[in-house]
Amino acid sequence: MNRRHFLKGTLAVALMSRGMTAIASAVSEANYEITRTEAEWRTLLTDFEYQVMREEATERAYSSPLNDEKRTGLFHCKGCDLPLYDSATKFDSGTGWPSFYDSLPNAVGTKDDRSWFVTRTEVHCRRCGSHMGHIFEDGPKPTGLRHCINGVAMTFHPN
Ligand SMILES: [Zn+2]
Repeated sequence: MNRRHFLKGTLAVALMSRGMTAIASAVSEANYEITRTEAEWRTLLTDFEYQVMREEATERAYSSPLNDEKRTGLFHCKGCDLPLYDSATKFDSGTGWPSFYDSLPNAVGTKDDRSWFVTRTEVHCRRCGSHMGHIFEDGPKPTGLRHCINGVAMTFHPN
């Protein structure tokens, strides 16, 4: 292979991988009904809300007033106001994070999270993609699941 061919080949690979990245990110954005630019999210959310909801940070245990919320009502996504959790499924997990054994129907999506050297199930709002928390398999009946949610990512709407 001469130098000219080598350069053309390298350019083609570089362009192709850029194209693939653009397509991949377009596809992942297109999965959500509600999409916003980074600037729009930063206007809508506080810095800390942005870190949790858009960058998957985790609030300090016992830092959210929603951890102690005992009234009946619905917990909505702070990013798009979609109702995600019903107080009927909330339980005291003793972890310091609002915990639910189930989500509302068609409310959340999940993906594997391989950070921190273990695989956890990440949970997010299915409508706007905002990160909510993680799902663990040590919850109470009937599901045996524990949705461990950042209170800062939700708003509470009492009945
Ligand atoms: Zn949302």
